[in-house]
Amino acid sequence: MNFRSWLARAAAGRNGMDRLNIFIYVVSAVLLAVSVLVPGRAGSLFGSAGLVGIILGMFRAMSRNTVKRSTENQAYLRRTAKLRKSLSEQRTRFEQRKDFRFFKCPSCKTMMRVPRGKGKISVTCRRCGERFIRNS
Ligand SMILES: [Zn+2]
Repeated sequence: MNFRSWLARAAAGRNGMDRLNIFIYVVSAVLLAVSVLVPGRAGSLFGSAGLVGIILGMFRAMSRNTVKRSTENQAYLRRTAKLRKSLSEQRTRFEQRKDFRFFKCPSCKTMMRVPRGKGKISVTCRRCGERFIRNS
């Protein structure tokens, strides 16, 4: 049996990496990095917390109880859905900032995008039909 097939057999039936695990590893890495920078007892507390995170992530990846791990992952995704959506919208706005201006509808708060440099324009909200004037 070569290493590759051994690895495939070892991973079979296990949870492996999921989004929650990625999050756990990122937080652990930050905690470990902080522990190096912070001297004394506080530093070792960060280090311990980081190690606990790494161990938890390994446990979740190796776990054979994939139903329970999947439930945890889904709960994590549900709880962070709003935050992740808002971060991805901010990123889109940042990437498109040179070509578009972004406005919130004064009535329903929907985000809208208009091309830059068209002067004063009348914007009609696609969702609620509210009209307002903005400088593009
Ligand atoms: Zn609206």
